[in-house]
Amino acid sequence: MNSAKNQPELLQSCALTTCQAFRKVMVLDPPTMLTLSIALAAAAALYLAVEWRSIREQSLLFWSAGFATITVGSTLALLRGSGLLLIGIWFANGLLVTAHWFFLLGVARFTKTRISGAWYLIFVAWIALLLLPDEPSWSRIMLLANSLLIALLSLRASLLLRPHGKSLSVGAVQLRYVLLVHGLFYFAKAISAVIPGTLIDLAAFRGEIIQISLVEGVMAIMLIALSMTGTERYRREQWIEQLAASDPLTALYNRRALDVRAPRLLDEISIARPGALLLIDIDNFKMVNDLYGHAAGDRLLVALSDIIRSSLPEGALAARLGGDEFVILLSDTSSERIARLGNALREQFHIAASQTFPTPKAVTLSIGANLFDRPPASLAALIEQGDAALYESKRGGRDSIRLVDRTFGNGESVI
Ligand code: GH3
Ligand code: MG
Repeated sequence: MNSAKNQPELLQSCALTTCQAFRKVMVLDPPTMLTLSIALAAAAALYLAVEWRSIREQSLLFWSAGFATITVGSTLALLRGSGLLLIGIWFANGLLVTAHWFFLLGVARFTKTRISGAWYLIFVAWIALLLLPDEPSWSRIMLLANSLLIALLSLRASLLLRPHGKSLSVGAVQLRYVLLVHGLFYFAKAISAVIPGTLIDLAAFRGEIIQISLVEGVMAIMLIALSMTGTERYRREQWIEQLAASDPLTALYNRRALDVRAPRLLDEISIARPGALLLIDIDNFKMVNDLYGHAAGDRLLVALSDIIRSSLPEGALAARLGGDEFVILLSDTSSERIARLGNALREQFHIAASQTFPTPKAVTLSIGANLFDRPPASLAALIEQGDAALYESKRGGRDSIRLVDRTFGNGESVI
């Protein structure tokens, strides 16, 4: 009975002890936070270095060096507890500035921009801090200088990542905003350092600014490192995707890329917006190879791809199917537009080929075209129809365009 009566008190005291123990674990004192930063920065440096081994992008090396510098700096920062103030504060914070300088160098590499030599003055400014007299405002000035320099470096790096005409990858946008927020945080920290009455004691790690800064540091290390790897990975993936989709000689789409992109264009086809496929083959191309060599033939293929690219209407797709065969897919077109495009290609190519590689027989273009207003069964079926028209064009004496109009009401008229 007695023990039952004491149960709530017992529970209460148990809860209190648990709570205290929990609070003890939860309260992360500055040395614990710094140790966490050291571990995270070391992991980030290692991770980025491993990424570099597989991707071989130099920016990853700079970023890895940045995190390695943070690891050393944060380890040295622990020494301020043992009274080594010059190493624990001035040198350790200098390494933190250096780390951000490495981050900026990495971003400059990534964006292929040159950064001005004036950024080296940051180190001169840091060395000049050694001349500061040992007075009570020392901690405050040190914090102000450190925060301003880090803010400047982070904001500059973020600014370098703004889109220059072309859009940025998801990873780069992430890194841009993480650096922006990090820079703004340090800017706010610099401002708070000059507000009178704020408690700042770098030697004893005391003061709310320092506490908050340590928490931000841990978060920033994780977010910056993750977005840095993301940035390079996304770029790498885009590059691989581009390689897989393009013809290595002409950089036009290859057949695989056309297969992927054609369905979207074909879905738009209707009676009001007919589509067309043009199959293009060079006449007597082998002659160029035989007379001038394979490299000359390659140059002519590249010249044709440039002509196609520059004549392509908006929204159209062009690809090299292989050998001397090219294809163009058009939407919202008409027989007049096809004839105009086909004849323009033929004329331009004839001039280019006859001027650069004169041959006994004219090197010209034969084109088989297909106009349709219902989505075809497949791209392959469409190419087969284009092939039949191309064959007719070749049979009819080459250097011509054969157009089969399959739109509603035209049966299969040939123009
Ligand atoms: P036709 O008038 O009937 O079209 O004959 P053609 O001489 O143009 O030859 P055809 O279209 O039958 O064959 C294409 C030739 O293109 C075969 C091959 O020797 C050559 N070829 C294929 N790929 C390449 C390439 O990448 N570079 C070069 N230089 N030649 C290629
Ligand atoms: Mg040919």
